[in-house]
Amino acid sequence: MSETTAFLGLGAMGTPMAAHLARRAREAGGRALVWNRTGAKATAHAREHGSEAVTLSRAARADVIFSCLPTSREVDEVVGALEADLRPGTVWVDCTSGHPEAARRQAARLSERGVAFLDAPVSGGTAGAQAGTLTVMVGGAAGVLERVRPVLAFAGKVVHVGGTGAGFAVKAVNNALLAVNLWAAGEGLAALARAGVDVAPALEVINASSGRSNASENLVGQRVLTREFPLTFGLGLLAKDVGIAADVVRAAGASAPVLMQTEALFRAAATVVGAGEDHTAALRLLEQMNGQEIR
Ligand code: NDP
Repeated sequence: MSETTAFLGLGAMGTPMAAHLARRAREAGGRALVWNRTGAKATAHAREHGSEAVTLSRAARADVIFSCLPTSREVDEVVGALEADLRPGTVWVDCTSGHPEAARRQAARLSERGVAFLDAPVSGGTAGAQAGTLTVMVGGAAGVLERVRPVLAFAGKVVHVGGTGAGFAVKAVNNALLAVNLWAAGEGLAALARAGVDVAPALEVINASSGRSNASENLVGQRVLTREFPLTFGLGLLAKDVGIAADVVRAAGASAPVLMQTEALFRAAATVVGAGEDHTAALRLLEQMNGQEIR
């Protein structure tokens, strides 16, 4: 399938994801267009990865349009800006960690132009995006997914999780679980530190025991204990995701007190510590609450 793809949003995730589309275009034929609000990033991407930097209206005429923007609000803005140039038969694959209600609204809006919409957020972080091993959770029509599946060159695993909005709902709950595990590991280690226990050997034990999680194994030691907090995934973005999960809980009439508490904690952390810090810096709020560094 030698399709023309367009990738909108060359951020921490979009840059390596679009690089895989450019690689695929070289190997399988087709063209890989890129657009970014700050145009210099698109020009640099074309130079480094062999994609083609284009205008938004050119991107709108691709066969498959990918977006990976901070929230559904920016996706709404971009849809509004290129709507008039869209062609019937195009598929829009939104890899933003968006809101299920926005997915339903965007799908309805795009269908008026004959464009099919898939909510297709990703997990695996910037490392997974670079390796091309992202997990993609897809909401929308299964037949539309089958059409674009060969183009998902950044994916290691693609799972159809339900109708429009289901992909965003699953992503929000997954990231809420990341937030819960990160915060809980921080609480345990801060308490141990206050009790006079060395945190590094305590973490070594936890990571060889039943209290371990992805957060304890791959984040706390590398980012918190080192005090480096390298920015790969913004705290504001994780707080946004936990907020979406709380909306999913409320809309479903579900009872999820831990997730709701975690929403409040991460909203507070983004305010106090800074939305632009790495998500692991949420534990700095916990440190303030305990008067104790986790180190
Ligand atoms: P970044 O902040 O690195 O990049 C954001 C991108 O959105 C940039 O290309 C930016 O353009 C663009 N943008 C921002 N505002 C607008 C706007 N108003 N109009 C058009 N473009 C805009 O974000 P990430 O790549 O980290 O995250 C993108 C999405 O992926 C988010 O939904 C996030 O939750 C999700 N995600 C992130 C992961 C991670 O590890 N980072 C992992 C999995 C999902 P410009 O260059 O001009 O600023």
